[in-house]
Amino acid sequence: MKYLLLIMLTILNMNAMDLKPWTRQIEKLSDEEKYIIINKGTERPFTGKYTDEKSNGTYTCKLCDAPLYKSSDKFKSSCGWPSFDDAIDGAVRRVPDADGRRIEIVCNNCGGHLGHVFEGERYTAKNTRHCVNSISLTLKPEKNEKDLNMSYAYFAGGCFWGVEYYLEKLDGVKAVYSGFMGGHVKNPGYYEVVSGTTGHLEAVEVIYDKSKVSYEKIARTFFEIHDPTQANGQGPDIGNQYLSGVFTSDESEKNTIKKLIALLDENGFDVATKILPATDFYKADEGHQNYYNKKGSRPYCHGYKKRF
Ligand SMILES: [Zn+2]
Repeated sequence: MKYLLLIMLTILNMNAMDLKPWTRQIEKLSDEEKYIIINKGTERPFTGKYTDEKSNGTYTCKLCDAPLYKSSDKFKSSCGWPSFDDAIDGAVRRVPDADGRRIEIVCNNCGGHLGHVFEGERYTAKNTRHCVNSISLTLKPEKNEKDLNMSYAYFAGGCFWGVEYYLEKLDGVKAVYSGFMGGHVKNPGYYEVVSGTTGHLEAVEVIYDKSKVSYEKIARTFFEIHDPTQANGQGPDIGNQYLSGVFTSDESEKNTIKKLIALLDENGFDVATKILPATDFYKADEGHQNYYNKKGSRPYCHGYKKRF
């Protein structure tokens, strides 16, 4: 009996103590983050930054940084919050919710509130949905975690929003991301790149299915949706970060681009596009992805023009 009491006390104590070691981290949270993570609030549906996030990486705890979910377990549930059908082993703890009905999920390391878990909804084979507040998570992108069934290509043609907008329309293209490539600073921020001091070009990563669309087809489109003859930027965007370039990963891509530039040359275009070796691609913040579709407007300095 005495032993049982001790165990019970320990359990009670654990729950109460949970967040204590994290006082300093808690102080750094915004009011909204505290409301969700500490006071167990819920963000409004369809407002979280990771609801429709599709990039590869690991989702860590906003409060303590412990790895919680893998992007490969994320699925589209249309419920308005990021949904995962599994968590990293031992990372997430289930506790009865104060409402007496639902099962709350918390970070097993720090006790921070994540959301709720539901079973039996038949969304995926695992029949489990971890419904998590975006604000409780941080996505750590893993740039080496590439989809081995897909091919990757990299282009720079001025403001990345316009290049992303048009290349994404091609059949066989799975996704296009805006980001930076070719500089000498690791993990540059948008404003650092815009300042022109990091050497990066605004670039896009095109993820495509080569059984459905060829590298050449994508490259041809790239040359016809921006002006490859402009040598100082693109449209009204002047500066090194807006230069026209193709980052090639192998000889075959390089030869394809050389061939297309020669064809354009025959057609009377004095091409300024640089052929550069592909280096680390840094994805821009979520706020810079899918910009025109989110805004419901069209690119200001890109458009289709037949050049081949
Ligand atoms: Zn945590």
